[in-house]
Amino acid sequence: MTPAIGTGDRHYGGPMRIDLHTHSSRSDGTSPPAVLVEQAAAAGLDVVALTDHDTTDGWEEAARAAEEHGITLVRGVEISCRHKRRGVHLLGYLPDPTHTGLADELNRILAGRTGRMPGIVAKLQGLGIDVTEDDVHAVSGDAAASGRPHVADALVVAGVVTDREEAFRRYLGPSGPAYVQRYATPLVEMIGLLRDAGGVSVLAHPWGRHDDHGLDAEAFADLGRAGLTGVEVDHQDHDPQTREELRAIARDLGLVVTGSSDHHGTGKVDHDLGCNTTHPEELERLLAAASAAADAAGRDTPGLVGGRAQGQRVSG
Ligand code: AMP
Ligand code: ZN
Ligand code: FE
Ligand code: FE
Repeated sequence: MTPAIGTGDRHYGGPMRIDLHTHSSRSDGTSPPAVLVEQAAAAGLDVVALTDHDTTDGWEEAARAAEEHGITLVRGVEISCRHKRRGVHLLGYLPDPTHTGLADELNRILAGRTGRMPGIVAKLQGLGIDVTEDDVHAVSGDAAASGRPHVADALVVAGVVTDREEAFRRYLGPSGPAYVQRYATPLVEMIGLLRDAGGVSVLAHPWGRHDDHGLDAEAFADLGRAGLTGVEVDHQDHDPQTREELRAIARDLGLVVTGSSDHHGTGKVDHDLGCNTTHPEELERLLAAASAAADAAGRDTPGLVGGRAQGQRVSG
């Protein structure tokens, strides 16, 4: 069954606005899931995906808010992966979160996140910075996935830096003095796990941040053969030329092209909700692939919820 979202024009005019990558305070965003969804509706979005780092913890709260605020929610997750020795982020959409292999792997990543905190704090203390694990917990609140942004927030509270950006630049970035590695899942393995859980995967901001991403057209072709469904092209970390090159590769390979804000609330500037969007036809393709994956895996996957979502499987 192909879920329909009634794409095309909205009944009150204008094209549908779709943002497929956002973070709540269950990871390193700053708004709780319900507030994030309410803000997405207020920003005029028709569809929003919640994609917290390595956790599906916010799904239920976000789903209730989506029904309340008349916006369609796509339940997703941004998973920390590794490919050719580099860290990459993989967006998973609509997998069955009770799939044991997927749930175990997310827990393994979350354990890695928790496990490195003492090391980061020790390195900061070694630099003479007075910050403790309790200080980090105080700012991470209801986050299931703790991360460097929370350490950054603790450094802001302590008056060591003025914002997350400065904390990453001076201490927490990969070449910074307080950097500690953590576990991430091999990319191809996670693409397979998401499929097996009846979901689909989209490679997040593949050419963002570092130039030595190691992902050329051939690499995308390999990942497509491994089951990758789409590529996030329209993202703030990609300049206009990067986007066009990436779009051409995705088109040639028949991969779905997505766009998003990668919103983190007040945790990241220049990432306002809806600042980049996904074309309705691309979302339809993504949903059709998710539907096919769910059928092939024999999984009862979450489907869309809320808003103008029609004819899709809705559960929970
Ligand atoms: P971690 O999850 O602990 O590996 O931290 C990486 C996360 O921190 C990324 O997913 C971003 O959301 C965020 N991040 C990375 N660099 C920066 C930066 N310069 N300023 C703010 N947030 C950042
Ligand atoms: Zn983040
Ligand atoms: Fe990311
Ligand atoms: Fe993100």
